Amino acid sequence: MRSASSARTVPTFTGDLAADDLGQTLLHEHLFVQQPEVDRALPDDGWEEDRGVRDAIAHLDLLHDRGVSTVVDLTVPGLGRDAALVARVASRTRMRVVAATGWYTHDVLPTFFRLNGPGRLVDGPDRLAELFVGDVTQGIQGTGVRAGALKVVSDVDGMTDDVHRVFAAAALAHRETGVPVFTHSHAPSRGGLEQQDVLERAGVGLDRVVIGHAGDSDDLDYLQELAARGSFLGFDRFGMEHMATDAQRIEMLLALLERGLAPQIVLSHDAAIYSRVTPPSWRREHTPHWTMHHLHDRILPLLRQKGVGDGEIRTMLRDNPRRVLVGPGNEGQR
Ligand SMILES: [Zn+2]
Repeated sequence: MRSASSARTVPTFTGDLAADDLGQTLLHEHLFVQQPEVDRALPDDGWEEDRGVRDAIAHLDLLHDRGVSTVVDLTVPGLGRDAALVARVASRTRMRVVAATGWYTHDVLPTFFRLNGPGRLVDGPDRLAELFVGDVTQGIQGTGVRAGALKVVSDVDGMTDDVHRVFAAAALAHRETGVPVFTHSHAPSRGGLEQQDVLERAGVGLDRVVIGHAGDSDDLDYLQELAARGSFLGFDRFGMEHMATDAQRIEMLLALLERGLAPQIVLSHDAAIYSRVTPPSWRREHTPHWTMHHLHDRILPLLRQKGVGDGEIRTMLRDNPRRVLVGPGNEGQR
């Protein structure tokens, strides 16, 4: 097992990538969000696998043309992760894609996990922890693709018992493997602070944690509190207009940059090539700019107009993702 700070490469769907070669990296995106149980009962007329793969390759290659070299796909079980499907895309695009493990639930886990585990009806090992560690050390779903990110979720319901189990298992996997922890947090209830409490108590260094969706917040004090504890703040939903406006995100981002916090901010979209949950027709109508190109096409030019320098953009898009993915002390050559 490698220690928490010894990684100099990052696993991707197409082999290990040297930290020096990560380049501009979007840390929170999704290729395909599916709902396997729903899809089986209510087949999705809009989904055609070969077309999805072609769309993803085209989208990622265009993004590569914009200067992005690496995308982290935070689609984990609970969101229909399908590593074999993503592998089909990754083998045919110039983009490097990093896989994630974890479990997406903001309230309860599937019944299996409620009845199986230490001290439960079917007493036995913690299958969540087994899954997370196995995905990082052995590979996902028999693909041999190792996860380079751990994903945990809490939302408006806070730390339910099952959410806490996911956090505990992810913390264990982090301690054993050094892979960073990415959260989905609920900004309006300042949920990132509770996430930090739980992860810190479980032995995770908060500088290895990205508080996802922090950029949905309009509360500067909250964001500064998160930053003061050493975590990265995810301004990771540009274009997701139904959660917050880009204008608000930019305003908060500028306020943090003014306070010298560029070294703790990471940028992304939380977009998807295809999502069963918010299908293309809905996205076209409600979130027309919610794609992985939005930062480069619209947001970065706006930030530059407002005086954000190339150095700060480089920090947020290149240096910080590298520090997140490989850990402190492994930044290597600039
Ligand atoms: Zn996401």
